[in-house]
This record gives sequence, structure tokens and C-alpha cells, in this order.
Amino acid sequence: MAKVSFIGLGIMGSGMVANLVKAGHEVTVWNRTASKLDEIKRVGAKTVSNPEELISGADFFMYCLADDRAISEVITGGYSLASRVEPGTIAIDLSTIDPETSAKERAIYESRGVEFLDAPVFGTKGEARDGGLWIVIGGKESVFKQALPVLEPISATTHYMGSGGNGSKMKLVGNLLVASQLVSIGEALALAKKAGLDLRKVLEVAAVADFKTPIYAGVGAGVIKGDYEVNFPLKLMLKDARLIQAFASQLGTSATIAETTEDLAREGVDAGLGELNASAIVKVIANRAGVDLVE
Ligand code: NAP
Repeated sequence: MAKVSFIGLGIMGSGMVANLVKAGHEVTVWNRTASKLDEIKRVGAKTVSNPEELISGADFFMYCLADDRAISEVITGGYSLASRVEPGTIAIDLSTIDPETSAKERAIYESRGVEFLDAPVFGTKGEARDGGLWIVIGGKESVFKQALPVLEPISATTHYMGSGGNGSKMKLVGNLLVASQLVSIGEALALAKKAGLDLRKVLEVAAVADFKTPIYAGVGAGVIKGDYEVNFPLKLMLKDARLIQAFASQLGTSATIAETTEDLAREGVDAGLGELNASAIVKVIANRAGVDLVE
């Protein structure tokens, strides 16, 4: 069993740590907000009060942090852990970040002989809790194979995408699809409500017809109950919408859905909905249309 150092006890990281411990790994954790460390002790993880204490003797150094700023404050700058992790350790970034930030991390690790995988995840709170994430990985294939003992306990499937950065790129491609489904279910439900349709029946059709998706089903069921309990915070969807646009623009392709998503998510965050689930995008669409989607 491996020695794992882990940073980030957010919605996703907490579930990941619990599953790594359950798989028999020796996991030591640091989180910026210390109060979250008490809870993770109960699942059998060790904790440290300073991230610098994490960096010696680990087989794997894993982290799932909110955004590029967090990576800059903990990994590439600030605590500069990328410059301090010992050669021999495999570093794995599970966060959703700009591929350029990922490249910056990789350059620091590689200059020091530390292997690195960019390994962002699909799935949300439930999949993190149940060890059922879908992970997309960039880096050396041999390193990916070495990391399987710590990737498999947290995932349903692992997808080796090729060279360094391809995991981060795939994550943004996938989140464009997520964004499009959030916007389309919102617009469809607002339209249906305006047209006088019964939203339960609309969702019944959406659950079986050839356009069905788990996102339509999950978001639809929540929205008609007025339930926006957080799995994936709206504020992080806003971040991702911006990342997708920047990425698409650098490559000279359009991402109009990401632009629309940013516009809606920004309005939601400004209205104080940022800590709610990203499905609050539907709430913004409904507000604009002047309809209440609760049935
Ligand atoms: P979260 O609940 O907001 O947790 C974010 C984590 O990052 C927390 O541990 C937080 O520490 C830490 N953090 C944020 N800023 C920091 C900083 N400046 N310095 C140190 N630590 C910092 O987010 P999450 O939902 O777990 O998401 C984590 C990553 O996974 C994000 O990149 C997200 O886009 C991605 N993701 C999320 C989902 C989802 O459904 N939630 C799905 C797929 C991918 P504190 O506890 O101190 O705030």
C-alpha cells in the first residue's frame, strides 16, 4: 500500500480521501480550512497543520483544489510545493484548471525529476463519495500505470488521454458538454412552462427519448422541487466557462455555449447564488423568463 499526501478537503477531495483510506493507503491530509481536518480524521486519514509537512516520504502527492489561483498559492507559488516535493514522488493534480497552469506545474516538476500527471475528474459529490469518478489523465503512460493503485479506488473508469496536458484539455472539452446541457435543460423547462406544459410530463419524456441524459434527469428533478443543494458549485461553473472560452479562443474555435454559460453564471453569482449547485443556471434562465419552475 502507498503513502499518499493529499491536499484539498472540498466536496470532491473529501470523498477521494475516504476512498483512498478505504483502499488501505496511508493518507496524510492538509486543508486550508483546518476545521475540515477533524472530520477526515474520523475516516482514518492522518492530518497535518502545515502543507510543508506533507512533502517528505510520500509515494504520491495528490491534490484537488478549487481553481488556478489555489494552484498558484499552494503548488507553483506561495508554499511552492512543486519545487519541494521529493524526486521519486508522483504528483497528481485532480483539479479543473487552465491547461497553461497545468503546463506550468509540469515544467516545475519535470525540472526536478518529479513525475506528474494532470488528472481532472468527471462526476460530482456522489461519485466522489462512492469512488465512481471518471478520470482523464495526461502524462507519461508508464507513470499513469504506476498511479493506478491510487486512481482506481476513487474512480469508475480511468482514461489515459496521452501526453502531459491532455487530461486538462479533455476536462474542458467535457465541461463544455456539461455546460450545454445545463443551459439547454434550463431553456427547455422555461419554454415548456411558458407554453403551459406540465413539467413532470416534460421530464418524463426527457427521461426516455433519444435526447435523454443523466444531467437532464438529475437537474430536472431538482429544479421542479426548487432543490439547488450543492454538488458542483455555480461559482466553479463560472470559472470553467471562462477557462473553456479562453482555451477555445487560443485554438481559434468558437465556444458560444461557454459564453452563454458565463453570462448566466455571472448573473447568478452576482445575485448571491454562487454557493448553490451549478443547476442554479436554470434558476437564472427562469428568472429572466419570469417563470417559477417549482411544480
Ligand atoms: P470545493 O468544495 O470548493 O473545494 C475546494 C478546495 O480547494 C477546498 O479544499 C479549498 O480549501 C481549497 N482551496 C481553494 N482555494 C484555495 C487556496 N487559495 N489555497 C488553498 N486551498 C484552497 O471544490 P470541489 O467541488 O471539491 O472542486 C475541486 C476541484 O474539482 C475544482 O477544480 C472543481 O472544478 C473540480 N470538480 C468539481 C466537481 C464537483 O462536482 N464539485 C466535479 C468535477 C470537478 P478550503 O476548505 O479552505 O476552502
